[in-house]
Amino acid sequence: MNYLIRRGNYYNYMAHNLKWFTNRIGKRIFRDDDGCGCNFCNDVVKNGLIVFNESHAQYLAMIDNDFEACGVKMNYRDRK
Ligand SMILES: [Zn+2]
Repeated sequence: MNYLIRRGNYYNYMAHNLKWFTNRIGKRIFRDDDGCGCNFCNDVVKNGLIVFNESHAQYLAMIDNDFEACGVKMNYRDRK
């Protein structure tokens, strides 16, 4: 039962999140440091990234949800 409720919440969160990214296709967004430290992540933390298209928006939403599930808040936002 708990599992079902949690999954329900997960998908609600996912839907909201996907909409957030989809609304920003073609725009630059920013996020917190996820602690990865690779060159790509360092660049994204410093300069943000542009949501290229719908597939990219879906990808970002999934990654964000995966990190959220692991307790890492990416905190995607419009301004640095
Ligand atoms: Zn990285």
